[in-house]
Amino acid sequence: MDPRTCRASRIELDADALRHNVLALTGLLPRSSGIMAVVKANAYGHGVRQLVPLLAELGVSYFAVATLSEALEIRTLGVDTPVLVLGPVDAECLPDAQAQGIAVTVFDPAFVSRLRTSLKSSLPRLKVHVKVDTGMHRWGIGREEEVVDVLRILREVPKVEVEGIYTHLARADEPDVDDAERQHERFARLLARLDAEGLTPPLRHVNNSAGFVRFPERSYDLVRLGISLYGIPPSPRLASSFAFLRPVMRLTAPIAQLHLIAPGETAGYGGGFVARRPTRLAVVPLGYGDGIFRALGDGRGEALVRGRRVPIVGRVSMDALFVDVTDVPEASVGDSVVFLGTQGTEFLSPWEVADRLGTIAYEVLTQLGPRLARVLR
Ligand code: PLP
Repeated sequence: MDPRTCRASRIELDADALRHNVLALTGLLPRSSGIMAVVKANAYGHGVRQLVPLLAELGVSYFAVATLSEALEIRTLGVDTPVLVLGPVDAECLPDAQAQGIAVTVFDPAFVSRLRTSLKSSLPRLKVHVKVDTGMHRWGIGREEEVVDVLRILREVPKVEVEGIYTHLARADEPDVDDAERQHERFARLLARLDAEGLTPPLRHVNNSAGFVRFPERSYDLVRLGISLYGIPPSPRLASSFAFLRPVMRLTAPIAQLHLIAPGETAGYGGGFVARRPTRLAVVPLGYGDGIFRALGDGRGEALVRGRRVPIVGRVSMDALFVDVTDVPEASVGDSVVFLGTQGTEFLSPWEVADRLGTIAYEVLTQLGPRLARVLR
């Protein structure tokens, strides 16, 4: 039971696994490159408060988040490792970034004039990274001329320090690497021109987890690693390339009550579960309010009890769900039920759960809600 939530349903975080992943990934990096740990969306659902101080201690070079509030949260933890905001920041909040030494992304030339009018002369210089669109067409400046102009202009904006330049790969996890290769080529051509004009910022970064294993020689100054740090491959297709990783998270909740149900009886909302045999039904205090997708009910999802797979049955409700433990006769109240991670020799991976839901592991992880305590071990 966690003393803060008074609830045994929790996310356990394996500090040794995180340490192992950071060291193993660092070992694959060229010496000149460092890790920018992507910890947006509460460190992919794992828990920023628990993992960021440990990642800082393990020596990651930089953190990346999506929003300024996520960056400011890192500062409240007393962590002074550099942080980059990958997404948009409202101009009126830029002085907060200046004050806290947080770098922001310039992905639109129009943002430059907002920098001019919003920055405070009494505060330190704001670090910026220019985002180049090499084919993803999400955030980024696409035309080479425009990137060059923006870099030239930014040099003249008071209170701005151009620290970095980066792009993002759209299809690095796909079997065909041609598209990612083209994006890398475009970025490399742009850098050659910037080098010639003396405009290249000191920190260049492109690769995410999938890009890193496929183009390790193009690691530049930083690699932006998210899912792999947490011990999960960026795609099931790349599982063998990431087999050296150890999953950091285990999502577990106890059996809180057991019911014996006679054939023909039902359980849960809408009588969603109908017993076909004498059934031992375990009630577990975890639901869609915690991020367990409702679509995992009615036998579509599985959990682990005493190291064995059992089906999630009936309708998943907001705060509780059922697992059928008829085939695990020794299952008792208080037993731990695992929904993600390892129990005994069995492992439930976020990719397996995602596959059952028709989504990706990233979504499964980031739906895990704030009611769950994150316990670092
Ligand atoms: N870089 C950017 C811009 C991202 O948006 C993300 C994640 O979505 C990453 C890097 C990290 O990707 P991954 O978790 O696949 O390593």
